[in-house]
Amino acid sequence: MEFEPFKIKVVEPIPITTKEYRLKKLEEAHYNLFLLRSDDITIDLLTDSGTGAMSSKQWSALFDGDEAYAGSRSYFKFEEVVQKITGFKHVIPTHQGRAAERIVFSILGGKGKLIPSNTHFDTTRANIEFTGAQAFDFPSPISFRTDEIADFKGNMDLERLEDFLRSHSREEIPLVMMTVTNNSGGGQPVSMENIRRTSELAKKYGIPFFIDCCRFAENAYFIKMREPGYADKNVMEIAHEMFSYADGCLMSAKKDGLSNTGGFIATNLDELARRARDLLIITEGFVTYGGLARRDLETLAVGLLEALDEKYLEYRINQVRFLGNKLVEKDVPILLPIGGHAIYLDAKRFAPHIPPEQFPGQSIACEIYIQGGVRTVEIGSLMFGKDGDGQRELRPPFELVRLAIPRRVYTNNHLQYVADVVGEVYRNRDKLRGMKITYQTQFLRHFTAHLEYI
Ligand SMILES: *Cc1c(COP(=O)(O)O)cnc(C)c1O
Repeated sequence: MEFEPFKIKVVEPIPITTKEYRLKKLEEAHYNLFLLRSDDITIDLLTDSGTGAMSSKQWSALFDGDEAYAGSRSYFKFEEVVQKITGFKHVIPTHQGRAAERIVFSILGGKGKLIPSNTHFDTTRANIEFTGAQAFDFPSPISFRTDEIADFKGNMDLERLEDFLRSHSREEIPLVMMTVTNNSGGGQPVSMENIRRTSELAKKYGIPFFIDCCRFAENAYFIKMREPGYADKNVMEIAHEMFSYADGCLMSAKKDGLSNTGGFIATNLDELARRARDLLIITEGFVTYGGLARRDLETLAVGLLEALDEKYLEYRINQVRFLGNKLVEKDVPILLPIGGHAIYLDAKRFAPHIPPEQFPGQSIACEIYIQGGVRTVEIGSLMFGKDGDGQRELRPPFELVRLAIPRRVYTNNHLQYVADVVGEVYRNRDKLRGMKITYQTQFLRHFTAHLEYI
């Protein structure tokens, strides 16, 4: 696909600012890009979560929302689509992914519980640790070699997982999880074989297996492109097979739901679903809306299917690759191969003169903003450098800066500009300075921390 498989119906001007202005704004935001106003950002690559553009079909579905408190027609449309894709019996809507996480881990988590995954996303880890349980990551060893090309670098390390399952009791491990694509591990896909074998291991030890499926459509597309035996299957069939190995899933529909908000729990486990619905009613809302406006369920019912449109997926994956290739041409060190929803700058190679404890990724992200008004996000010692008790500093394996691409929002011209900005920062990388934290919270500190240059 050489061009976007859509035309533009509505436009939104983007702010163009000066470097002096951005310097001032960043200082006011304590060098934390989460604390900037979006009015001061030219290209916003902070996240691909809830930042996509809806289609005309979704906007018209929105008008058809049935705002009934209970038994809304919109819920049943949504339920039918989720069941069609996942095959799971119970479909429980939530206002976003972390609400699904909070509900499931309040039931399955708690002190003494251990929950393994290929790599837990930050909110998943926080929700697990918040209940007193512990989260464990077993990414495949190749994922640590950031310049090595492989098809499925998001995979679970099955040996380490089996060792882990063998050395703990079933009572200790309430759940095995798998994140597709592996967001924190670089947006890398997980193979069908790895999903199947993880599922077999979980079954062997009698433990339920859940998929954190925020980017299930992008993952399915990678399986189609890369895994032997899947080239002739359509992505709906592939997605269906992925879910067939699991007992349930947690979804942030702000990603491959192509909507601005929403999430769900879907599962075949009756007792878990019953308890989840009880909790849903206490904090999210009734079981047929779960904290969403019913019209949001309409946009999800359409968006989840649009995300499985292969022309769309081809465009989506190609656009991310376009930005990645432009950066590679400029010798900028990025995670390879290029993942599904984002480009990750390898801060350890980008700014080797800044040690991890001085947040090289954050320093790069700040400079990219100053240089061109482009907002990115650090994924490294600032995001993950603290344990669940908030007491100890940890050293995560990566120091990355993520450039997440919102779905159907920017054109390749925008991304060419981003590549030029990042290239300029890279050319002047010797001038990048280390940073220190001057204020932080116990959980998810990166959202609110204050920093300054050393
Ligand atoms: C975004 C995300 C979540 C959390 O979802 P929210 O909708 O942001 O609450 C969980 N897991 C993964 C892999 C994600 O990308």
